Amino acid sequence: MTALCAVMEVKMKIETIPSGAFATNCYILEDQGTVLILDPTGKPQRILDRLQDRVPAAIILTHGHFDHIGAVDELVRQFHCEVYVHPADQVLLEDETLNGMAGMTAHVRTQTTPLMEGTMKLGQIELQILEAPGHTPGSVLIVIGQDCFCGDVVFEGSVGRTDLPLGNDSQMRQTLKMVRMLNPQLNLYPGHGAATTLEKELNDNPFLRTRR
Ligand SMILES: [Zn+2]
Ligand SMILES: [Zn+2]
Repeated sequence: MTALCAVMEVKMKIETIPSGAFATNCYILEDQGTVLILDPTGKPQRILDRLQDRVPAAIILTHGHFDHIGAVDELVRQFHCEVYVHPADQVLLEDETLNGMAGMTAHVRTQTTPLMEGTMKLGQIELQILEAPGHTPGSVLIVIGQDCFCGDVVFEGSVGRTDLPLGNDSQMRQTLKMVRMLNPQLNLYPGHGAATTLEKELNDNPFLRTRR
């Protein structure tokens, strides 16, 4: 007699590390041995402590603001991993007058790899990249299965500001139209604050609500 073997779907592990003056969320993702770091914020040591002996396959940036990029160079120095960023935000990584806020800045000297719209696979993790300009020109949504890492595009109850350098209000409006069309079952993991779902934001978020 053969034993019944249930196919277990192993969920991707998501660790959230908020840090810095704006409590920016760094996410460490792990699935079937592949580890990715999204938005390495603040001090590298907090991320290194969480990684322990795990080696990240890549770093991916949702956008180029200073509070999302601070630990990039140090992590690359240690792990020699690739750094993906949308080409339209490359200028933010290099120019501190464009990426800062309230007198705080950061920079990335590491050579980056262009993060383009479409699907890509890093190790065992398949990612769908959606361009979502407005907060910055190269902001992206990173969709992995049912999970969407949305940077500073959408927050619980709010959306990203467009009044910083290279921000663009009409692009943001187009982006929010696109977000409204996504699968409402998506879990949203924003660059700041708590995780939420698109369904909840479509009902409660004044910037996304379709009905009042
Ligand atoms: Zn930002
Ligand atoms: Zn931010």
